[in-house]
Amino acid sequence: MYEGLIKRYKKYLDVDEKYIVSLNEGNTPLIRAKNLEKILDGVEIYLKYDGLNPTGSFKDRGMTMAVSKALEENKKAIICASTGNTSAAAAAYGARAKLKVIVIVPDEKIAKGKLAQAIAYGAKIIAIKGNFDDALESVKKISQESDIQMVNSLNKYRIEGQKTAAFELIDDLKELDYFMLPVGNAGNITAYHKGFKEYLKDDKLKKLPRLFGFQAKGASPIVENKVFKNPKTIATAINIGNPASWDKALNAIDESDGQIDAITDEEILNAYNLLAKEEGVFAEPASCISVAGLIKSYNEGKIKKNSKVVCLLTGNGLKDIDVCMNNMDFDIKNLDDDYALIKEEILKDL
Ligand SMILES: *Cc1c(COP(=O)(O)O)cnc(C)c1O
Repeated sequence: MYEGLIKRYKKYLDVDEKYIVSLNEGNTPLIRAKNLEKILDGVEIYLKYDGLNPTGSFKDRGMTMAVSKALEENKKAIICASTGNTSAAAAAYGARAKLKVIVIVPDEKIAKGKLAQAIAYGAKIIAIKGNFDDALESVKKISQESDIQMVNSLNKYRIEGQKTAAFELIDDLKELDYFMLPVGNAGNITAYHKGFKEYLKDDKLKKLPRLFGFQAKGASPIVENKVFKNPKTIATAINIGNPASWDKALNAIDESDGQIDAITDEEILNAYNLLAKEEGVFAEPASCISVAGLIKSYNEGKIKKNSKVVCLLTGNGLKDIDVCMNNMDFDIKNLDDDYALIKEEILKDL
């Protein structure tokens, strides 16, 4: 039986088994994107669908580690700042571990599905008039001034848990040429780089995949090399103006011969639409930036022919259904319950 990523990769993770808190996260599907391959000719494309983790985002990978370690270190409470997914994961794993959970979120910019999760799992929720970066400042302070454990990605155990996604990729694929992912606080790009390097050292991988990170144009501090005071994008999970792991992201990009680029909200929504309609995969907007980024890089001639590319889908589309309802073109037919009318409506478009 699969029992979560700490047990699967215990050789690479330093945790006392007694304290493991797991929801059997990880082991997410790698899906071949044959219909996208028809559009981007000459590239082999895979989607790593981490939105199928227990709370619907990759944050569970880091949280199983951070919460297990909080127990091992005898902490009684955990806290995080969050655009939504970290709070959902912290609330779930914290509930399971019987820890007090406090989450600080920006009051307007959090997707409803994510907020609903924090409510359901019973976290104490503080919504501030400010953005994620402001929330993180308070969290850093209180975790220094008290015994409350911070579980943002500045917590090194988060990165440890998240690096297992790189292991899964290599266990499944053996090798890949490019890895496309969204960059917010830049914890995840740091984690993948660490994971790939550990596999390289163990001879499980021959060469590092090139890491292509993407930020939303309205929140692209690393691309522009300046802090964004008021970041703004439809991709709320990466609406971050001052990434906590900025330097580590630059190092990961440099060492892997990668790049970082900015993508418009329009391109993100196009990819969101394309992924759902062409591949049957519903991912939240921040995730879809990896596919939008692949399309942009391909069109700019940056992807070599016959290469193997993986796009990371970090979060589930159900997290933020308002984006779908407000931005997709759709037409729901309202009819009386009259079979003749229903039949006519169906047959006319076939
Ligand atoms: C947290 C998150 C990101 C950004 O990850 P970082 O480690 O902050 O760069 C991207 N997509 C989703 C869905 C997220 O929840």
